[in-house]
Amino acid sequence: MSEPLTGGCHCGQVRWTLTSDPMWGGHCQCTNCQKFSGGGHASNIVAAKADFDVSGDMSSYEYDADSGNHMTRYACGNCASPIYGESSGNPKGVVIRVGSMDDPAGFAPKAVLFVGSGHAWDTVDSGLPTFPGMPQR
Ligand SMILES: [Zn+2]
Ligand SMILES: [Zn+2]
Repeated sequence: MSEPLTGGCHCGQVRWTLTSDPMWGGHCQCTNCQKFSGGGHASNIVAAKADFDVSGDMSSYEYDADSGNHMTRYACGNCASPIYGESSGNPKGVVIRVGSMDDPAGFAPKAVLFVGSGHAWDTVDSGLPTFPGMPQR
């Protein structure tokens, strides 16, 4: 595999390391991601929880998604930067915010999800496949 990915929050209190390659990466325009990002979409990588090591004081927020999955979102307890999330639908995975990476330039998005709730002003890479909701796996 390539070098471990590293990242953290804006104030530097939260730090993370991922020692395996991400399984997937993409943009999501669902209404939850709009709220949590404060923008038109969130950009995420999905990775193995067992290979994700995170340290620092974080706040968490839990809710039930429309899919029926129970979601937990983690953010820095000091500067409130979103860091990652977990879903009961993928207990062995974590969804890490690309903006928290030390080098987000290395992000390789594969698709745009939930374009049905995206906005005309939120233009994301038009060369990527789009899905109206969550793609079937
Ligand atoms: Zn912070
Ligand atoms: Zn979303």
